Amino acid sequence: MMRISILGATGSIGSSTLDLVERDPDRFEVIALTAGSDAARLAAAAIRTNARLAVVADARKLPELRDALAGTGIAVAGGDDAVCDAARLDCDWTMAAIVGCAGLKPAMAALEQGRTVALANKESLVSSGTIMMAAAQRYGATLLPVDSEHNAVFQCLDRTAPRSVSRIILTASGGPFRTTPIEAMRAITPEQAVAHPNWSMGAKISVDSATMMNKGLELIEARHLFPVAPEQLDVIVHRQSVVHSMVEYVDGSVLAQLGTPDMRTPIAYALAWPDRMNTPCERLDLATIGSLDFEAPDHDRFPALRLAKEALVADGARPAILNAANEVAVAAFLARRVGFLEIAAIVADTLDRYDPAAPETLDAVLAIDAEARRIAGERVKDCVA
Ligand code: NAD
Ligand code: MG
Repeated sequence: MMRISILGATGSIGSSTLDLVERDPDRFEVIALTAGSDAARLAAAAIRTNARLAVVADARKLPELRDALAGTGIAVAGGDDAVCDAARLDCDWTMAAIVGCAGLKPAMAALEQGRTVALANKESLVSSGTIMMAAAQRYGATLLPVDSEHNAVFQCLDRTAPRSVSRIILTASGGPFRTTPIEAMRAITPEQAVAHPNWSMGAKISVDSATMMNKGLELIEARHLFPVAPEQLDVIVHRQSVVHSMVEYVDGSVLAQLGTPDMRTPIAYALAWPDRMNTPCERLDLATIGSLDFEAPDHDRFPALRLAKEALVADGARPAILNAANEVAVAAFLARRVGFLEIAAIVADTLDRYDPAAPETLDAVLAIDAEARRIAGERVKDCVA
């Protein structure tokens, strides 16, 4: 039996992970499940999987969780510290699928146990990749990338010749506004932005895909996960989301991983690694798809991608500021407080107004994150006023 915990069990990635785990109850034992605030959904998942512990980060929801699990024997807890405690509970495999910088401390807590951590939460690597990778090494943890592009790269890496990689090429779908003229982008609504053409995902990452900030965050993520310099990282727009990413080698060979766009494939790879397991994912039918298209990204219509590339090269505190401002701006957009084009503008302004030294500790990252959120929040108020 493989003992697993899922941080962010009620989200899109958490639900896909549960789907795979619940198909094979003889193979997986669920230790802890955590959620942000959806106590009812968390309780239902805990009952279905007979989890040992269910934790809700929003402590106000603890009574609801306790009522829903009364008499089941499943332990309950509430609050951010309880989420980190759940991440520390002994198990074999942890899925880190909390959205945003809120997932940083729980992911670190799991890494510090020297565990195998399947990492979906890209924001934590963007904000503090150097610190996280150092912690993984120090505690002997194994970090498996779940983000489909990074999982693809991980699958294509030739481990017998690690120095022979010349380039990593991340594919981007281009999101729902790949061909939308810039004048029309001003009026984009949250509903339009979260309707991704190929992937079904949580609201925040869907908006990030629509602005292409997602691909920018993924460039920074890739820099930490793989042994390449920023100039060896590229993005290509591929609207079908069939080629999930590519690795180019010094001899000119390019290896790609392909599949239908279903996050259960990369999650299954992380669950079974270094082996593979069956999934119910639809099989790729290239004859029906017919052709695959590729084009260069348009930095004029997608300025978020340019901002992220600048942060990638500058490094230091820049990626943490970029990420924090983006989280604030996307939340404000989803709340209809700012327009779609203002998301990148808020991020750019926050980066202009704040330039602290590179953080060396997790607490320093969290302090930079908090200050960047404050500055971005002021900028949101200016937009609204
Ligand atoms: P989601 O919004 O669907 O789910 C997020 C999960 O985090 C939920 O369980 C929620 O309850 C929990 N959560 C939210 N705020 C929290 C807080 N403050 N404290 C504790 N828990 C909290 O998001 P998602 O689409 O599943 O994405 C999760 C992560 O995976 C993100 O970092 C995203 O970028 C990454 N990712 C997602 C996909 C995808 O297909 N959905 C693909 C690649 C990477
Ligand atoms: Mg991705």
